[in-house]
Amino acid sequence: MYLKSLNLRSFRNYRECLVDFDAPKTILVGNNAQGKSNLLEAVELLATLKSHRAVRDRDLVCEGTAEGKIAATLERANGTVDLALTLRTQARRTVSLNSETLRRQLDFLGVLNAVQFSSLDLDLVRGSPEMRRNWVDSILTQLEPVYAHILQQYNQVLRQRNALLKAFRKESDSNNSTANTQNSSELALWDAQLVTTGSRVTRRRARVLTRLAPLAQTWHSSISGRSEVLELKYAPNISLEKDDPEAVQQAFLEKIQQRRIAEQHQGTTLVGPHRDEIEFTINQTPARVYGSQGQQRTLVLALKLAELKLIEEVVGEPPLLLLDDVLAELDLNRQNQLLDAIQDRFQTLITTTHLGSFDAQWLDSSQILCVEAGQ
Ligand code: ATP
Ligand code: MG
Repeated sequence: MYLKSLNLRSFRNYRECLVDFDAPKTILVGNNAQGKSNLLEAVELLATLKSHRAVRDRDLVCEGTAEGKIAATLERANGTVDLALTLRTQARRTVSLNSETLRRQLDFLGVLNAVQFSSLDLDLVRGSPEMRRNWVDSILTQLEPVYAHILQQYNQVLRQRNALLKAFRKESDSNNSTANTQNSSELALWDAQLVTTGSRVTRRRARVLTRLAPLAQTWHSSISGRSEVLELKYAPNISLEKDDPEAVQQAFLEKIQQRRIAEQHQGTTLVGPHRDEIEFTINQTPARVYGSQGQQRTLVLALKLAELKLIEEVVGEPPLLLLDDVLAELDLNRQNQLLDAIQDRFQTLITTTHLGSFDAQWLDSSQILCVEAGQ
């Protein structure tokens, strides 16, 4: 797929800006705080309807304005699509495809596919488990848009169940037995929902990681050029012996029952995919603890390239690649590996504060745009 143009109106520090992309690689160069990452964030929003930097729409809309808009023209194998996302400070966002407003935001997902690789991702290996879960979730959302809905349902059930467990703890402290009985039967209802939605999450995460693992392994050995063997292992919080919905649900329910007392005591849900971990090992040693900084970087690069390939395989078209501040963090060998991997197959937007970190090969084959104060 190819992003032909992007139009930002009252988005972040952009008042009005139209960008035509006329090369497979675009380098956005500019000083700090000029709007380079904001532009990439706009593309990320069109791809996932989420930003890794902002939670509230009102932060995305240009200060002093009530409404902002991101519009783009995308060429896909089966034709050209116009996408638009309108963000509002006081009302809900709306999305449209080819000027037609969509009733379900879910239908907007999966039209533009993009892999985001920012300097923050360099912490993927040693950062919190939540980072790794978010990473897998963002891949799943693009491959299987309905996953966004499943995850949202799970999180909603989790919040309600946590609130109930908290109330439970309070009532038990005050020895209110009537309230306790009431809470118990309500809890059983939430258990059932947690198990149904949670197993959907777990099974999908397992499936996508099974497909990602060999791709990451191949990239990793190609970049590290040594006999390092990467293993990527899903460590689900619920046992997952086979990919059978009923077996997973049963295992989940049993574990909840085992942890019942601890959950009521702590007032929070202790079992479920919100406690999953994804483990990376290099030659059977955990990369998180033992990997050098260089090894961790190689690993993250391999993961991102695997993500790119997996989306291409599943979607049938190469996704966009968004590189935010990351190239300067890679040494020349890794930069070249990346360049070789993307060639001109994956349209790539790259931000940087100076062009000095690029070699001539990059510069010659790229469109270079200077970003200054939202222009
Ligand atoms: P760096 O090189 O430091 O990463 P950058 O060019 O990537 O810089 P951005 O993060 O794209 O910078 O832009 C940051 C600028 O956008 C800041 O000046 C910030 O004040 C401004 N900004 C962020 N949100 C809004 C908003 N809602 N309205 C107006 N300006 C905003
Ligand atoms: Mg930036």
